[in-house]
Amino acid sequence: MNWAKEKLFQGILIDLGMTSSKTWIDELSTFLQPEQISTSYAVLEQHSRGESFDEGKMPDVVLFPESTTDVQAIIRFAYEKGIPVTPVAVNSSLEGHTVPLKAGISLDMMRMNRVKSFHPEDLLIVVEPAITYPEVNDYTRRSGLFFPIDPGAHASIGGMVSTNASGTMAVRYGVTSDYVIALEVVTPTGELIRTGSQARKSSSGYNLKRLFCGAEGTLGIITEVSLKLVGLPESASAARVPFKTIKDATEFVTSLIQAGLPIARCELVDAYSIRAANAYNGTNYPEEVTIFLEFHGNEQGVIADAHLAKDIAQHHGAGAFESSTDPRERQMIWQARHTVYYACLALNPGLSSISTDVTVPISKMPEVVELSLSAYRRAGFKASIVGHVGDGNFHLLIFYDASDKAAVERLEQAGHEMIVAALNSGGTCTGEHGVGIRKLKYMEEEHGLSLHYMKLIKQAFDPKGIMNPGKKLPE
Ligand SMILES: Cc1cc2nc3c(=O)[nH]c(=O)nc-3n(C[C@H](O)[C@H](O)[C@H](O)COP(=O)(O)OP(=O)(O)OC[C@H]3O[C@@H](n4cnc5c(N)ncnc54)[C@H](O)[C@@H]3O)c2cc1C
Repeated sequence: MNWAKEKLFQGILIDLGMTSSKTWIDELSTFLQPEQISTSYAVLEQHSRGESFDEGKMPDVVLFPESTTDVQAIIRFAYEKGIPVTPVAVNSSLEGHTVPLKAGISLDMMRMNRVKSFHPEDLLIVVEPAITYPEVNDYTRRSGLFFPIDPGAHASIGGMVSTNASGTMAVRYGVTSDYVIALEVVTPTGELIRTGSQARKSSSGYNLKRLFCGAEGTLGIITEVSLKLVGLPESASAARVPFKTIKDATEFVTSLIQAGLPIARCELVDAYSIRAANAYNGTNYPEEVTIFLEFHGNEQGVIADAHLAKDIAQHHGAGAFESSTDPRERQMIWQARHTVYYACLALNPGLSSISTDVTVPISKMPEVVELSLSAYRRAGFKASIVGHVGDGNFHLLIFYDASDKAAVERLEQAGHEMIVAALNSGGTCTGEHGVGIRKLKYMEEEHGLSLHYMKLIKQAFDPKGIMNPGKKLPE
């Protein structure tokens, strides 16, 4: 074990409880191969942080299971000894989900990334959890099928199930849990269970599979996912249209939905972010609130959909409406939206960023977006807004100086105002990113007495509280 030497070398003092952890780490090699166990400083450090969140502890060890048998052996071992386990896959979650708060084991699932079986005739694929959704789509494309949930980052299926991810296409295709037909899970006590079947629907038993969707790794380790697929659309059209205000833009979207248009994607990007995208891509789009649209269907249908959307946009005072069915032009039309995250980062060099989401009833969106922006502006921050407006979900990307304690406090306060506004409007503190660590303090207000039953469920699955402790539910 080179751990102590590496620590000294790095000159970093971390309270690890060295004696006890070293004893159990040595025991891991009785059931795992040496290359599945890492205590190297670089690997531990990498597993102590999440995307846009770095306030965790170093894990004692990082383990790389390669099969369900490995996972079961690890969890049985952890359960017996009461060792905390933090599962992690691509690590693109945004609210501190994968940060080990109590050290212990960081369970890196990324070696379990195979397709187990593919059943195009049943529109079904069975995969290991760490395969990413673009990899699933590469695999199924030639059969004319795809998995339509697109959260942007190249996330794993297991991570997406565990956060119930959605993203730009939720308005048409729904969320990850809508596509989960069955799961294989190693419970926190080390038992292997299957929930769901290969049937398309079922009224049998309690719906445990839904419980694991969005559980953020707190109820067990998902080792296999049976996913429903859908047919690739024959054709698509894309459009981009600017508006003077967020209110005009969101009212336009409400009219589109009321007109029954089959919108596949519908995204709002604020003026600040369009300015960032122009600087990043060398483009010259109007620096106004912009709606990006996509329609799926047959060739004539998607052209007609775009025409109708243009008419409706004009009634809402829109600027120039651009649309196309050509794949390359579609890509260009959406370029600003696709690059917005990195464009905003580039516009704020040297600053840290934090990304968070809330979801509100669609009609309340203009009001809550304005309130949120004004809270951050009053606190002295630049914030970029990207919204999946079709379903009332919006994201804020905020830039701040992490070394400025007062700024961090003001940031917290502005975030609090946004979440309170979302809850008061009948919404939720997170529509797709999940609770992780940052949203824990809103669970009581959002769920009331239901939170008590959620805690009973957690206790029933995980009596020793070893699975991703300190996440999802306040302890
Ligand atoms: C630029 C950017 C844009 C994003 N946009 C969106 C968006 O539009 N919509 C959206 O929904 N999300 C979005 N996200 C967030 C993120 O991509 C999703 O939360 C995604 O589902 C996380 O998947 P992952 O593989 O990275 O999981 P990780 O971050 O590694 O883990 C996520 C959670 O799942 C648990 N977990 C992982 N694997 C397992 C397993 N096998 N069994 C049990 N628990 C497990 C972890 O403990 C953790 O709690 C975005 C992130 C970034 C960086």
